[in-house]
Amino acid sequence: MVADVVSEPSLLSVLPEDLITRFPSLEMSEARRLLSIVHRTGSLPPHAPAGIRRDSFQRVRDAVPMHQLERVTRRPSALDPFIKYGFRTLDGLLVEAVRIPLEKPGRFVVCVSSQTGCALGCAFCATARLGTGRNLAAWEIVDQVRQVRDDLPTDGRVHGVVFQGMGEPLANVSAVVQAIRVMTDPSLQAIDGRAITVSSAGLIKPLPVLLQALPRTRIGISIGHADPIKRRALMPVEVANPLHNVLAIVAQHAKTTRIATMLSYTLLREINDHESDADAFLALVDAYVQQAGMAPRISLIAYNPIGPSDPFVPSEPEQAERFRERLASHGIPVVRRYSGGADVGAACGQLGLESVMDPTHVKSSEHEASC
Ligand code: SF4
Repeated sequence: MVADVVSEPSLLSVLPEDLITRFPSLEMSEARRLLSIVHRTGSLPPHAPAGIRRDSFQRVRDAVPMHQLERVTRRPSALDPFIKYGFRTLDGLLVEAVRIPLEKPGRFVVCVSSQTGCALGCAFCATARLGTGRNLAAWEIVDQVRQVRDDLPTDGRVHGVVFQGMGEPLANVSAVVQAIRVMTDPSLQAIDGRAITVSSAGLIKPLPVLLQALPRTRIGISIGHADPIKRRALMPVEVANPLHNVLAIVAQHAKTTRIATMLSYTLLREINDHESDADAFLALVDAYVQQAGMAPRISLIAYNPIGPSDPFVPSEPEQAERFRERLASHGIPVVRRYSGGADVGAACGQLGLESVMDPTHVKSSEHEASC
């Protein structure tokens, strides 16, 4: 019963044109106004608002439900201005999102989850330890952004969204595409599509679906290791989805759209941070540049602890800098991404950590309600 409710459309996941198709008597201006109220307030008013005919309003209200996630935690980091949010789904699962401050005051990026766990098993990721979860519905993805936006300071604004939370977004590509359409609709969340990044471990089959549906969205690929054998040990997805082939697809997309792919590399001490590892990565980057006719963006990420029996430690800062310099010396723009909120499990690779530490975290009680 709950599963049906989760997967059915919600007013938070429909576009104005979807409503018009379903309710032909509704005018576009009414559909936009109605959905804009839903996104602004998180609910439907009890009576038809001004500008929407009462019978049209009633028809939509009776036919399309309005679901919301329940916000159960709000954990500001003591180290930096990152905030992690925990949301409970209608079927009692936990998903997490992170509010990331940008340098420009009042601007934020929301890191969202697309699944409640992940089947891909990347060795450096807390979500992987939860195992296969379920796909989030489009409204469950949209609502993370909406609720984080509602918690911004008065003059704050959501500048962008990154799909780097729990789950592999390409394993849930149709909901992710619909969620992004809603987020970028000017009458709904009005986020610039170029400020949305979908980060993937690299699934070959659904990748073209996303790129064709949303050509302006930036794609990010997690590298792990450039050597296929070593990558398989870190990222089993390599077995059926060779990175070389994944990068050929995204390079072709970059060539057409002139939107550079983001290549993310989590630095693991003694595992993938030697200069020979940097050289292997450079060879991949060279192949990408040849095909795309432009450089990718490279983001080096410090490893963050993922719970008990953690197999990895972060690279020494000097070694991380040597790695960065080796890439940069070849003229490749490289940033060492600051990944904040590690003290509250909000940093890269850590989402889902609380459920790993305490599997009863969400379903059991109200103990966690700190917001
Ligand atoms: S890094 Fe992403 S794809 Fe890999 S296990 Fe974690 S959530 Fe899944």
